[in-house]
Amino acid sequence: MADILGSLLSFLGWKLPFKFIFSNEYWMVELGRHVFAVKKYRLLFERIVGLGAGPQDFITPQPATDEDLLLVHTPKYVKKIKSGTLSSLELQALELPFSSEVVRFFTLMTGGTIATVEEALKNRLAFHIGGGFHHAFPDHGEGFCLFNDVAVAVEKVKKEGKINRAMIVDADLHQGNGTAFFFRDRDYVFTFSIHQMDIYPSEKLESNVDVGLWSGDDDAAYLSALKPYFPKIYQEFEPDLVVYIAGADPFRNDMLSGLDVSKEGLKKRDQIILDSALKLGIPVAIVLGGGYAPEIEDTVDIHLNTVKAAARAWKKNPQALVTSLIQSR
Ligand SMILES: [Zn+2]
Repeated sequence: MADILGSLLSFLGWKLPFKFIFSNEYWMVELGRHVFAVKKYRLLFERIVGLGAGPQDFITPQPATDEDLLLVHTPKYVKKIKSGTLSSLELQALELPFSSEVVRFFTLMTGGTIATVEEALKNRLAFHIGGGFHHAFPDHGEGFCLFNDVAVAVEKVKKEGKINRAMIVDADLHQGNGTAFFFRDRDYVFTFSIHQMDIYPSEKLESNVDVGLWSGDDDAAYLSALKPYFPKIYQEFEPDLVVYIAGADPFRNDMLSGLDVSKEGLKKRDQIILDSALKLGIPVAIVLGGGYAPEIEDTVDIHLNTVKAAARAWKKNPQALVTSLIQSR
């Protein structure tokens, strides 16, 4: 059905205004029975096809190279991963089964976020059906994150002279500790994290702005904590790129969340973060981050709402609308 609808919409000349970065390999990795359900990547891909996306709307990423990974990670850590010689303590911190397939998954995901950032810089908006592994540090991985895809992608475009300044807006449930650590002395990157305080990671590292919420905080508490920063931080820092980690895990039913935030609340969150960036003409690369609802469709709904919020934010921006009309001819 989705295919028929997709063909009909592309026959009518309707196009999604931005590209999606996705690989079929994302959902094929075997993690056993794990709270991290990679199936969400395939389900979200299918829902986006259901919105009318065709092959022309997707970019298939290449795996990140060692050179890319070494922009953020230490040679010793990359070597241990490639040779499968992480210690049992290191594997414990990762909280994932380790295999060459898992290494391939994270290498490809990192390549996917690089492609998303590059596409966003070309076309002002791009959406990765993956990414957001913000707990990975230069010398170790933790909390389901082997490589810090967002840090690698930002470092790559910075090194290539494509940006001067970037901002990472991390709205995953968990604090972006690996990202905060890596960019702590790099003043060309502004890190913003809104997260629940009384859960993992036990030690919160200092971002440029940290907004802490507590168990039981609802939509009103979440949104009133978020709102005062947008568009203020964009206007003050003037980034050339925003990477938005649109975690679905703040959701009240999520297995890891203690917040009382609804799908509607998360829609408003997306709108606040995306509308103001696009209004100011700042390119935005969106990555998914976490999402562990017991009903996987809830996680997928939340991620799909971010796609819709991005499309609406794009359409509200007159300059973006002109570009999209030209492209659809
Ligand atoms: Zn998370």
